[in-house]
Amino acid sequence: NLEIVFVGRSNVGKSSLLRELFGAKVRVGRRPGVTLRPRHAQASDLLITDMPGFGFMSGVKDRKQDIVKDQTVRYIEDNAERIKIGVLVIDGPTFPQIVDRWDSRDQIPVDIEMFDFLREIGIDTIVAANKMDKVKEDEYDPLLDEVAGRLGLEPPWQNWKHLIAPISAKKGDLKAIKGLLRDRLHEMKRDDLF
Ligand code: GDP
Repeated sequence: NLEIVFVGRSNVGKSSLLRELFGAKVRVGRRPGVTLRPRHAQASDLLITDMPGFGFMSGVKDRKQDIVKDQTVRYIEDNAERIKIGVLVIDGPTFPQIVDRWDSRDQIPVDIEMFDFLREIGIDTIVAANKMDKVKEDEYDPLLDEVAGRLGLEPPWQNWKHLIAPISAKKGDLKAIKGLLRDRLHEMKRDDLF
């Protein structure tokens, strides 16, 4: 069994992306009540895991974000053997500012922490920069350069096209992430998913 995990802050469009990618194979909708457990779906022998969004219950307690983060880290560590791909979903247009806001408080943004963590434990990680439909054409490349830079990836972002997938779940523009997933699944001889 192989597993792909999807992680990201609340409201970045992770559910929308999962729905667009896997459709009926993944149950999406409101999480009933306050559950921090991952949700799973199976597509042939591939397990697709939707981790709870960081900052979920935002405004209630800062601690909540830490709990979600710790549980996510623990889940990924415990299942690292079979987790082959990690997809970090970010809100592309706001990502640089969000990172800078955390930096100004001398805190490491949870997205960056997750990105580093996934790579450190050897999970092939894709960053899905969602909501790119909000970005004007002439701001598209400069924004993605900033996104890459904040992730510690030296711009230009085009050097990181094997890691960064600019997408719009809303517009159904998922070429970039489908391409990256297809490449990786092909290497694992699982070409049948998309
Ligand atoms: P989740 O909390 O990460 O699962 O995010 P959702 O999928 O529930 O989406 C959060 C909000 O972002 C919703 O209002 C979506 O309509 C919106 N959204 C999701 N994807 C996109 C996108 O690609 N572009 C834009 N403009 N909005 C999006």
